[in-house]
Amino acid sequence: MRAFAYERPTELAAAIALLVAHGPDARLLAGGTDLIIRLRDGSVRPLVVVDVKRIAELDGEVRSAGGLLTIGARTTMTAIAADERIRRDFPALAEAAAVVGAVQIRNRATLAGNVCNASPAADTAPVLLVYGARVVVAGANGERRIPIDEFFVRSGVTTLARDELVSSIELPLPDGPRGAIHVRRTRRRGHDLASVTLACAVRPDGVTRLAYGSVGPRPVLAVDDSGLLADAAAPDGEKAELLARLLAGASPSPRSMRASPDYRRAMLQVLALRAVHAALERLAGEGVRP
Ligand SMILES: Cc1cc2nc3c(=O)[nH]c(=O)nc-3n(C[C@H](O)[C@H](O)[C@H](O)COP(=O)(O)OP(=O)(O)OC[C@H]3O[C@@H](n4cnc5c(N)ncnc54)[C@H](O)[C@@H]3O)c2cc1C
Repeated sequence: MRAFAYERPTELAAAIALLVAHGPDARLLAGGTDLIIRLRDGSVRPLVVVDVKRIAELDGEVRSAGGLLTIGARTTMTAIAADERIRRDFPALAEAAAVVGAVQIRNRATLAGNVCNASPAADTAPVLLVYGARVVVAGANGERRIPIDEFFVRSGVTTLARDELVSSIELPLPDGPRGAIHVRRTRRRGHDLASVTLACAVRPDGVTRLAYGSVGPRPVLAVDDSGLLADAAAPDGEKAELLARLLAGASPSPRSMRASPDYRRAMLQVLALRAVHAALERLAGEGVRP
């Protein structure tokens, strides 16, 4: 590991000044569950590591106001999986957070770090896509909001500028009932990165949002507004045909050690149909709220 300076600013402005001063030689550190591994294996070699955990303006809180649920940049997977508002209004996010790594990882891993790392296998990415999340970003030119679908570029690359950091993630609160679920396929049960990770949300007006990851360079969002997927009585054969079209954005790498492209494509199709059924069941049952 190459030696680096370690900075622990207590103010957002100081953190941004460090990013401006050091450009590509600076790296932000939150839980460190991705960054420390990359520092150790030498795949990133920053001169300065900027720890965000003491920045007063960034917190680990979950807030609900103005029609939005706001998740602070320091919020861990453990906190997300346990938060009552998230479990009620965004259950698929709680589910995704609950399967990230193991307890020790979840106690440190942040949601912001998961999206900024931009791994195609990030479990929270498909969920944030189906829930229409926005990434709140602070930088030298002030604050901006990036729709999550415009945030991911490819593995390890986002539309975040060099002088920017993520201050929170916003989710629009549901304006009616919705059935949603996160599912994934791993090589073995428990602690493993996903070969396929997928989220689905169905609304009673017939709109179904599906997002899938670990099957290409970035997670993909697909929307069915024909009402077919949301129709509990529609035949599975018709749904499978439509799903095949919606899942055409998958382009799994033949070089992955985790699973072959054919296996991933087949699992994606199977998981997507199962997820649609499960989301519909939730919509018909506990997904419906007063
Ligand atoms: C053993 C193990 C198992 C894992 N299993 C899973 C899994 O099952 N599913 C899964 O999705 N992930 C998994 N991960 C990956 C990892 O835990 C997550 O990606 C985690 O959420 C990253 O968050 P962090 O706070 O640790 O980020 P860090 O490692 O601190 O940072 C990750 C990246 O994001 C940047 N960053 C962090 N915070 C900010 C910010 N506020 N603004 C801008 N950039 C920022 C950093 O510079 C870095 O590039 C696993 C990791 C390990 C080590």
